[in-house]
Amino acid sequence: MQIFTIVSIYRLEHGKIHAKHIVWTTERILKRGNYQVMSSNGNAKHVKVLVLGSGPTGYSAALYAARAELAPVVLTGMQLGGQAALTYTIENYPGFPEGVGGAQLGELFQRQAEHFGAVTEFESANSVDLSQRPFRVTADSNEYLAETLIVGTGASPNHLDIPGEVELTGRGVSYCATCDGWFFKDKKVVVVGGGDSALEEGLFITRYASSVTIVHRREEFRASPILQKRAREHPKMNFILNTVVTEVIGTDKLEAVRLKNVITGEETIYETDGLFIFIGHTPNTEMFKGQLEMSELGYIKVNERMETNVPGVFAAGEAADPHFRQVVTSAGMGAAAAIQATRFLEATESSPVTST
Ligand code: NAP
Repeated sequence: MQIFTIVSIYRLEHGKIHAKHIVWTTERILKRGNYQVMSSNGNAKHVKVLVLGSGPTGYSAALYAARAELAPVVLTGMQLGGQAALTYTIENYPGFPEGVGGAQLGELFQRQAEHFGAVTEFESANSVDLSQRPFRVTADSNEYLAETLIVGTGASPNHLDIPGEVELTGRGVSYCATCDGWFFKDKKVVVVGGGDSALEEGLFITRYASSVTIVHRREEFRASPILQKRAREHPKMNFILNTVVTEVIGTDKLEAVRLKNVITGEETIYETDGLFIFIGHTPNTEMFKGQLEMSELGYIKVNERMETNVPGVFAAGEAADPHFRQVVTSAGMGAAAAIQATRFLEATESSPVTST
């Protein structure tokens, strides 16, 4: 029997909450194993293709690199399967006419890549030195020397940065419906945001909650028409528009939120047991600052071949894509990055790495 466990870890750092949600399955833990490295330099493991991130981007890249017999190593990061693995159902990934569970799809991606020789390491990269090849990557337990690097580190949910948010995270405030929705059985929940995530996750929470109130700062929604229709027609869903949440209120647990109408300026206290925040994402690219060119918003700049400004370093998925951010587009970009990494290695074959 396959058991799925989602663990939420909240860390407070410089007054900001860092939330990580880890999806583990029995099989994924049991499958962790050893692998062949090209060589070792001191304690560093020398690999041809190092993939950072285990979401659709990372494992698609790993699948293509593995089929090119490059024995890619995937560093999972804290969130095995990426954000997609935290989505209850994914209905727009081709090949699954009835939809597929996010964790299940993540598992399939991983199994397929590993079937062809990709290796999963359950650790996070913490720093990189891209000044020369092989690139040096320092992770939780190991150091890697990578002939090519594929960055698929994805993005993390944004916070409202309002009073009470940090203090009550994990005590009524959440950024993950799949992880925490169950705790709100027969309770009142507020969801903030007007995009696909807010409506899709809000609809998911109706399975448990007695009511789900979407609070959105505008009149119009950014979410796709099909989700808007479903949300509007759902008997448990309510909408408060042109309104922002300005304060999270409660002592030991969330009790209410302060709302402000952005047109009239009127403030109200709205009682609620849960507050789910889905207001977009920020790319996880901090460790590449000063080494890879980025946009003002922190997305890594790539050309149409997923090449960054550093030859041999490729970026794909939400770390480099401010436009589409879909499972299918991230997977496509990951595959493209691996094809290009393979070509790069072929072109530099004249100066091969010495194996030991
Ligand atoms: P998003 O599309 O960027 O939407 C963020 C929402 O939060 C917007 O409605 C925005 O309001 C609101 N917002 C931003 N900052 C805010 C603040 N400080 N206070 C209050 N509201 C704020 O983000 P997302 O919904 O997470 O979606 C991200 C990407 O993933 C999108 O490309 C989406 O299509 C994709 N996605 C797809 C699916 C699916 O296809 N089933 C599911 C989930 C996500 P404004 O509208 O006023 O800017």
